[in-house]
Amino acid sequence: MSFRFTVRSTDGSARVGTLETPHGAVQTPAFMPVGTQGAVKATLHRDLADSGAEIILGNTYHLFLRPGDELIARRGGLHRFIGWERPLLTDSGGFQVFSLAERRVITEEGAEFQSHLDGSRHHLTPERAVDIQARLGSDIAMVLDECLAYPSTREATAESMQRSVRWAARCRARLTEFRDSAGLKAGPTLPAVTISNGGQAQFGIVQGGVFPDLRRESAEATVAIGFEGYAIGGLSVGEPIDLMYSVVEDTARVLPADRPRYLMGAGTPEDLVECVARGIDMFDCVLPTRNARNGQLFTSRGRINIKNAKYAEDDGPADPDCHCYTCTHHSRAYLRHLHLAGEMTAGALNTLHNLAFYLDTMKRIREAIKLGIFDSFRQEFLRSVSRLSHDS
Ligand SMILES: [Zn+2]
Repeated sequence: MSFRFTVRSTDGSARVGTLETPHGAVQTPAFMPVGTQGAVKATLHRDLADSGAEIILGNTYHLFLRPGDELIARRGGLHRFIGWERPLLTDSGGFQVFSLAERRVITEEGAEFQSHLDGSRHHLTPERAVDIQARLGSDIAMVLDECLAYPSTREATAESMQRSVRWAARCRARLTEFRDSAGLKAGPTLPAVTISNGGQAQFGIVQGGVFPDLRRESAEATVAIGFEGYAIGGLSVGEPIDLMYSVVEDTARVLPADRPRYLMGAGTPEDLVECVARGIDMFDCVLPTRNARNGQLFTSRGRINIKNAKYAEDDGPADPDCHCYTCTHHSRAYLRHLHLAGEMTAGALNTLHNLAFYLDTMKRIREAIKLGIFDSFRQEFLRSVSRLSHDS
């Protein structure tokens, strides 16, 4: 295995570490920009790398439907296809399938769904999710899990969590077959699976909603199966923020200290800092990129909405403390004009800034942990980012 995680220093529950993957190292805590269709929207890979992104995420659901995992495998895997030679993580496709609501049916076997593109029918099983990600060749693949809506009853959450554990075991069994046989041979019932990345790691996902004992049960059962890392799923789906933080804290505590912990789908800049404080090493979220396209900028002094009339003649940069291309070249007045004029450049410049802010925040978090001053950094950060947070 060319995958390794090393904790370098700790400060309380916060930790700095290094993830080594077949495509290079990632310093943690890390933020992973979301590259849904093999591209982080409105951003060039070159600018992502320059902003300090060491790993990006690809969405299996979208890539499976278009252009197709087999086509990508024939191009040498996702890294080569999209021209990104740094680490990549892929999700299992489950989250998008579960979001299809009326267009999907869940059974013990897996999820049957209809494509949002053309209505075609597909069956996503735990084994299939592993096969697709093997063809994509990401450095980190995720198991297929069931994502429940919030709120859900305890009974429904328990049942779903236990199914996710059974699916996780099936995913691990499939990956183990690959590792044992260096790729499965085609057979009467088995399609050939091209392994695009022989060093691919696989992460398990802890579910259990907002019920501490179900979270603990899920964590113990998932750790018993054994994965290279562990994610906390099913959060940031509408539960109160304090509840999310307490679930993260309780769950991180029962996950092994020598494996990376990944909080899926969160969050705001405040969430990054608060969840690092609770022992999280990896994050992904569409907020910085999606909000950028809607004109919302995250800054060191809180969020600003560039559409606001008060920025019409504001010659200052989006964030006076930021060194990104957008902030060193353009004014709020110009960014507001581009946004209102519907220029594509507005999305590009805003995204560049928001990602720079997120990635710079992670860097400052890592530095504060190494210096043993994370708690004072955290207090100061929360004070300053909330200053303008009501600019809407
Ligand atoms: Zn900036």
